[in-house]
Order: sequence, then C-alpha cells, then structure tokens
Amino acid sequence: MNWITDSRQVMVPEQSIFFAIRGERHDGHQFIDELYEKGVRQFVVESAAITPERRAAWAAYCDATFHEVPNSLQALQEQAVAHRRQFRIPVIGITGSNGKTIVKEWLTQLLSPTFGVVRSPKSYNSQVGVPLSVRQLNETHTLGIFEAGISKPHEMQVLEPIIRPTIGIFTNIGTAHDEGFRSRKQKVAEKLRLFTRSEVLVYRQDYPEIDEEVNLLLKAVNPSIRLVRWHMGDGPATEFSASVVQHGLHLQHPTHGAWSLQLPFADPASVENLIHCVVTLIIMGITDPADLQARLNRLRPVSMRLELKEGINQCVLIDDSYNNDVAGLQLALSFLQQQVNRDRKVVILSDVLQSGQKEAELYAHIGRLISEQHLNRFIGIGPELSRNTHYFPAGSQFYASTEAFLAEESPDRYRDSVVLVKGARAFSFERIVQRLQRKFHGTVLEINMDALTHNLNYYRRKAGPETKVMVMVKAFAYGSGSAEVAQLLQFQRVDYLAVAYADEGVTLRQNGIELPVMVMNPSPETFATLLEYRLEPEIYSFRILREWIGFLEARPQETSSVHIKIDTGMHRLGFRPDELSEAGALLAAQPQIRVASVFSHLAGADEARFNAFSREQYQQFIAGTETLANVLGYCPIRHLLNSAGIVRFPEFKLDMVRLGIGLYGVEATQQEQQLLRTVGTLKTVISQIKTVPAGETVGYSRSGELAHKARIGTLALGYADGFDRRLGKGVGSVLVNGTPCPTIGNVCMDMAMVDLTGVSANEGDEVIVFGEGAPISAMARAIGTIPYEILTGVSERVKRVFYKE
Ligand SMILES: *Cc1c(COP(=O)(O)O)cnc(C)c1O
Repeated sequence: MNWITDSRQVMVPEQSIFFAIRGERHDGHQFIDELYEKGVRQFVVESAAITPERRAAWAAYCDATFHEVPNSLQALQEQAVAHRRQFRIPVIGITGSNGKTIVKEWLTQLLSPTFGVVRSPKSYNSQVGVPLSVRQLNETHTLGIFEAGISKPHEMQVLEPIIRPTIGIFTNIGTAHDEGFRSRKQKVAEKLRLFTRSEVLVYRQDYPEIDEEVNLLLKAVNPSIRLVRWHMGDGPATEFSASVVQHGLHLQHPTHGAWSLQLPFADPASVENLIHCVVTLIIMGITDPADLQARLNRLRPVSMRLELKEGINQCVLIDDSYNNDVAGLQLALSFLQQQVNRDRKVVILSDVLQSGQKEAELYAHIGRLISEQHLNRFIGIGPELSRNTHYFPAGSQFYASTEAFLAEESPDRYRDSVVLVKGARAFSFERIVQRLQRKFHGTVLEINMDALTHNLNYYRRKAGPETKVMVMVKAFAYGSGSAEVAQLLQFQRVDYLAVAYADEGVTLRQNGIELPVMVMNPSPETFATLLEYRLEPEIYSFRILREWIGFLEARPQETSSVHIKIDTGMHRLGFRPDELSEAGALLAAQPQIRVASVFSHLAGADEARFNAFSREQYQQFIAGTETLANVLGYCPIRHLLNSAGIVRFPEFKLDMVRLGIGLYGVEATQQEQQLLRTVGTLKTVISQIKTVPAGETVGYSRSGELAHKARIGTLALGYADGFDRRLGKGVGSVLVNGTPCPTIGNVCMDMAMVDLTGVSANEGDEVIVFGEGAPISAMARAIGTIPYEILTGVSERVKRVFYKE
C-alpha cells in the first residue's frame, strides 16, 4: 500500500491509502470524494471531522474502507514507527540547520557501492515527510539515510522513533526557524532529541552551542552514545582534526589514523558537508584512503533542481536530468500533471540505477506509474527499460542509449507538449534537454518556485485559516511570469487571483487556470471577453456600473460576479462611501449580478507615519461595507490589506487579503524581510573582457573615464532588458563570481560595461544582476525607486526559467 497525504499526488489509486490530515489551512477530508472518484478505496479519517453529511455521503461508498482515528497525522506517524521496527539495519539520521539534504545525497552516492540505500526523497524531512520517507524501507535495503527538520519544540520526539537512527549527524546550527524557539540553545536541545537512542553521533565541535548541549543534555539521557567530533585546525588531540588548503583535505585522528584526500568542491559549506561524510564513512569502516578517494571522485554536485524551460515548437520542458529514482520520479510525474497549460504530455525516462530492487519488480512498478499518467508518448532509454517494454503502455518507444535516441529522434516530433526529461546522471540527459530547449540570449530571470511557495505560506500563516488569500498576478505576475506563477498558485489552492487588464486574465484562462479572477481595469471594449472567459470585473464608478448593467441586460441569460471598490482615501479608483447606498440599490435591482466582494486599498500601509490615516481608512471601509450589505441584503467578501498591510495591520485582515510583492520575495515594510526567500535571480553573462589603458573612455558620450588602466567586462544586458539606465556610471553594480563590480559609463540598449579590475573573471562567466546576495531593494534604492519598478521592469524578452529545488 502507498501512503498518501496529498490528494494531488495519487499515482496508483487502488493501491493507496489516504490519510486525511487537517493542517493549518487545509483539511484532507475535503478531498475524499475526489479521491474516491479516482479509485482510492482506503481512507484514514478523524472522528472530529466526520459531520453527519460526510458520514451519509461516505456510507454510499460501499466498497471503500474508512478507518476512524482521533488524529490522522498521529496515525500515520504510528504506522511509520511500526514499519521502522521491522528492520534491523543501520540507519543514519541527519539534522541541523543547513546541509541536511546535501549530506544525505552525498552519503547516498558515497555508500551506494557498498549498501542498498534508501533515503528521504528530496527534502522530505517534516512531520509528514519523515513517515513517508521511512515507509519506503523494504527487505532489499541494507542502509537507511533520513533527514529530519523541525520548526517548533516537541516535533523531534515524534520523529525520533520513526527514524530511530543508529548513527546521527548534526550538520550545524544557524538562524533558520529561530522564530519557533525561545533561544538557539532550545533549538539545539530539541534537535538533539533525534539521537536519544543512537549509538554514534558525528558533529563539528566548532559550534560551541552544539558541543555544550551534547555534553549537558544528550549525555544525560543517552550516556553510552559515542561522540565522534571533528574540528577545523588545532584543537583537542582526542578528536578528528581537519585542515583544508584549497581542494586538499588533511584529516587526522590520534587512533583511527590520518588521511590526505582531494575534495571535489572547495567552498566552505561544501567542505563542511564533505567532512561530515568522510568522517561518517571512516567510522562505518571505510578507511582505505584509495577507496575513499575513488568514492569522492565520483561525487556529483547535488542539484535537485527541477527546471521548467521553454522548449522548441511551443513545448514546455521539465528538466530533471540530474538523477533518477522511484521516489523522485513520482514527484516529477506529479509536477508534470500540474502543468495544465499544454494538453499533450510526454515523458523521456532513463533506467533507474541502483534501486536495490529486483529488475522485474522495479519496472513493473514504474510501468504502472507511467500507465496511470495517460501520456501521449512515453520514451524509455537504457538497456533495462529496453528489456522490460511489456510493462509499458502500447506505443511506447525504447532506445538502448541516449546516443541512439539523439541519432534517431527528430525534434520535430515534439510540439505543443509538456515534456518531462528525467534521467540518471550517467545517461547525460542534458544533451536531450539542449536539443529540445529553445535557444535564447544569455540573460535569464530564474524563478525559484519553492521560494514562492515558502513566501505564500508565510503570508497564509499570517492571514490565518479563516481569511482567504487573493494573489495579485498583474503585470506578468510582477515580472515573474504569470502563467507559471498562476499554475503554482492554483496547485497551492489560493482562493482568488487578480490582474489589471482583461487580456491578462485571458492569458491565465488559456493556460488552464480555473481559479476565479478579478480584473481591476475593465473597459467596455473588453466586456464580451470578460463574460466569455468568466473574468470578474472590478466596478469602481457609476459610469462603469451602468455600462456593465446595460451590457448584461442585452444578454438576459448571463450572470456575473463583480467586485465593488470603495475609495477610502487613496483617491485612485472607487466609489465614495456616500455613493454606496445608491450603487447598492442599482446592484440589488439586478438579479443577473452578484457582488462577490467589496474592497478598498490603504494608501500608506507600509509606513508608520500614516498609521492614523490607515485606521481611518479602515473605519470608513467598514462603514461602507455595512451600507452596501444592508442594501444588497447579503454580505460580500471584504478585503483591504496588501502585503505590507498583512504584516502591519493583522487586525484588519477581514475575510480576504490581497498578496502582491511579498509573494515575490520583497517585504515592503522591511521588518520581516529575513523571513522571506528570494524568488527571482536576474542573470547575464560576460560577452567580452578587455584591458583598457588609463585616460581612455568607455561607452556612449565617452562618460566612463578611466583614471587607471582597467579590465572592462561587457555584459549581455541593457536598458531594453530592464537594466535601468540610471544604474550606469558606477551607480549600480553586479555580482561577478561573488564580487560586486560597478558599472562604468552609460548603460546601452542591449549591453552594459562593468569594471572587473582585480576580479577573477572570464568571458562567458555568469553575472548576477539581482538575487541572493544582491537584493532588489538595494538596486532600487540606488536609483531612487521601489522594488516593484525593478521587478516589473525586466522586459519580456528576458527568458524566465522556473525551477524547484
Ligand atoms: C497591486 C495591488 C495590491 C498588492 O499590493 P502589494 O503592495 O504588492 O502587496 C493589492 N491591492 C490592489 C488593489 C492592488 O492594485
């Protein structure tokens, strides 16, 4: 039986049991009917969630079984504990603030030659993710590697018996999730609960908080645990001491021995993660330096990114060419099914290497997964798939190798489809991606979809379960790409979308978006379009109201939902409060029209100096909504707050909030910026580098005068791409290999020049214009504007690349 907690991820319905979990915003019980329709027959439900109506409805599902429990999440966790108990194999449990997933992936790569490894898929490390990860354990495995992450106290004691690690790794401690804990100390202490029954714990002694709590707390509850500590540089002679010069690692232990190894990666975070791995291998008995080195040499960077790229012939590519395992395949297939903007779906898949499963069993399972997807085409690449074609739908095609595929397949066969390209590293599927990808010039805006989800959830938590969320996807979703962002929002089940103009709404509909959409600037020329695409106009004046009524009266069979805007002080669009009883009377007389919502907008939500004004706007708004509701005889949804308002005036959140810039990673009040994640990274490349003598000038109007001989880099980015001309002449800078380099001379239409003197850089190197380490807000400040303008200014000719971590 597969355990399912997300109704959107059912793969083989008849073999699935659904745990209906009630979360902060979602109630799994809502999806039982839908799942029954799909063929699921086993459900775990909570007594408290079974209303009489539900009981009656479910009674009709005679062939389904409902297991009634007090708490479904707890039931899932208990099942996982029982499952774990059946296996007496070594299990590595990993926690810490950063690096958990990388250490897990690298240990898997390093240990796979020796063990049949099962690990958490991606970063499944939560209260739900850990049980699902451990569920994968079966007889073929000889080692488990699972990660655990927590965000509040008492969570780890639940995860401990599920993972029951024999070997523990505590990667490090940082600030992530600090808000859930009283202190850093408490956070460390909570995380250490993962190791209360472990035999060994590996950690880095240079973190005094970890070392202290291990000795104080962990030793008290688990006195027999063996501590394997390592530190950088000199330190206690009883431990592993490490020294690193560039790629060379020298590791030494008074009794275990000494090793000199070449590390494949040399940045500090990778080095720390690698030493955790090497120390773990040594204590597991893999001590031969040549063997260790051989394993390290095969290590690959962990890029679990799954990228959405524009393909040739109107295709969309899902590039997942880094690895291939069954759990990852399920996630990728579910992501494929989320792509509702193309009707045709194609999968190109390689053999699954090192699954630990018997070949026939493995491919029977994968064949079932693939058959469930109702694909238009399936292409299998590799000798194993080619031997097991009978498990796959008729019409599937098979190739022995990537070369054979590239030689025989014509790219013209791919049109108007979503194509998932998923392959194990050894198959080099990046060559397939290159073939099918649309070529573009070197500037891209990368959008991190996991960061978007993080930010959405951040504001949802603030809004609370009772308040709906409308997301503003106007202006190409603040420059991020409206169709893809809207798809993600639909998948995450937001309540409403809003755009500025009808044609933006049409784009959403044409890309498979079914959510209700408000259009803020309707005009009579677009009325027919609004009706045709079920878009809901904002009505802000008597003129537009009368026009809309007149339009509908000529189409008596049609109905429409509208949104009434009240002007409470912004003085942009909207009815004055004293106009509302008349407007309400006009609306009430129109049975064709339903007022879906009523709203207003704060003029200074982000600034404390306008607090009194904001409160006054709120009062006016409440009074206005009451007037309107009285005349209408019903209460439309009320909403007032934008992103800044959600942070600063939670008491005004009413029935719905309107999330904008915060979703895209900019916290407009700057109070909680560190709790959001960066969504967009604008990248370009260096087209040419030249050394220019002192006294020369760079660029138009000879404005960039050189006082010294300088190395000048020309970037493939200009004001036509959205790199504002005001950023020229040293006002702005870009990150080149981590170093900020100022512009020199005027920004041109398609190019800009930067001063690379003293910076190591080559032609073709990647340059970060904004993103992690180069905040949009700093760029905005430099030229006296706001982040909104920078974001929406990235021109549409710059390709958007979407990825998941
Ligand atoms: C754009 C917009 C928002 C969102 O504002 P942010 O500051 O980006 O959160 C909210 N309401 C209305 C009416 C808007 O036009």
